[in-house]
Amino acid sequence: MAIWFHGTTKENADIILENGFKAGTFFGKHLEDSIHMGGDCVFEVFFEKSPTEYWEYVCPEAIPKTKIRSLIGYSPKVSFHSDQVDYEIKKIHIKEDYDDQVVICGTCRGRGQMENYPPLTRWSEREKVTVCDDCNGHGARTIDGSDIYDHKR
Ligand SMILES: [Zn+2]
Repeated sequence: MAIWFHGTTKENADIILENGFKAGTFFGKHLEDSIHMGGDCVFEVFFEKSPTEYWEYVCPEAIPKTKIRSLIGYSPKVSFHSDQVDYEIKKIHIKEDYDDQVVICGTCRGRGQMENYPPLTRWSEREKVTVCDDCNGHGARTIDGSDIYDHKR
């Protein structure tokens, strides 16, 4: 017997509650992975036996809603957050990924967004926050003004 997790957005959670999971859905063995990679609404899903020994499982077939044990909404309360550490991490990532072809955006200082939200941590959040116009939410911009993805190796 095993309980595996699937994190998603509130909107998708409502659809899953109604229809169950589609084939090809990702499940995580650990709660924190599911929150981080999927979203704050996390399903606990019952499996007769653990489907894999790995931490992640892509289910090849649909799973009916009767296998859902619970749906829990997590809302972390951030008591402290360092923009300076984010900035240092971003500098290292940019150096690794792009070498000297891009620079950290001076407008948002690498945060990728303009409002006073917690930093972007996953793709699904990008649509919900006001991203920086100068770097389009990437936290960095190219030296020559082209799209940052053109430079990704
Ligand atoms: Zn920016």
